[in-house]
Parts: sequence; C-alpha cells; structure tokens
Amino acid sequence: MRIVVDFETCESNALCMAAAPEVFEVRDDDKLYVLVENPDEELRAKVEAAVRACPKQAIKIED
Ligand code: SF4
Repeated sequence: MRIVVDFETCESNALCMAAAPEVFEVRDDDKLYVLVENPDEELRAKVEAAVRACPKQAIKIED
C-alpha cells in the first residue's frame, strides 16, 4: 500500500499521528511528515483509522 497525502488540504492537526504514529508525524514546524510511504500490511488497520480520523479527508491509501 502507498500513502498519499494532499498537503494542500492538510491542516496539521495531528489526528492521523494519534491513530498511526509509526506513519504520520506533525513536527515542531507544524508540518505533517509521512514517515513511511509504503507501510507494511500489519499497519493497515492503523492507517485506515488515520484516514477515518482526518477531518479534511486528506489521506488516501493506494494499493
Ligand atoms: S489528520 Fe488530516 S488534516 Fe490532520 S494532520 Fe493528518 S492529514 Fe493533516
């Protein structure tokens, strides 16, 4: 799977980081960083939770 984030839409509220800290990190510069662009399948549930948690629908999973 591949993580695609629309950084234009993202408002850096870190809700995705709360759901999947292995994959998403909002840093002190107030920007979101995708730590792992192609996460292992074992992280899918967490990434899906991050997709659901994002109020901006800024995260997509491509298989
Ligand atoms: S939950 Fe959505 S809006 Fe918030 S930091 Fe993550 S991608 Fe950006």
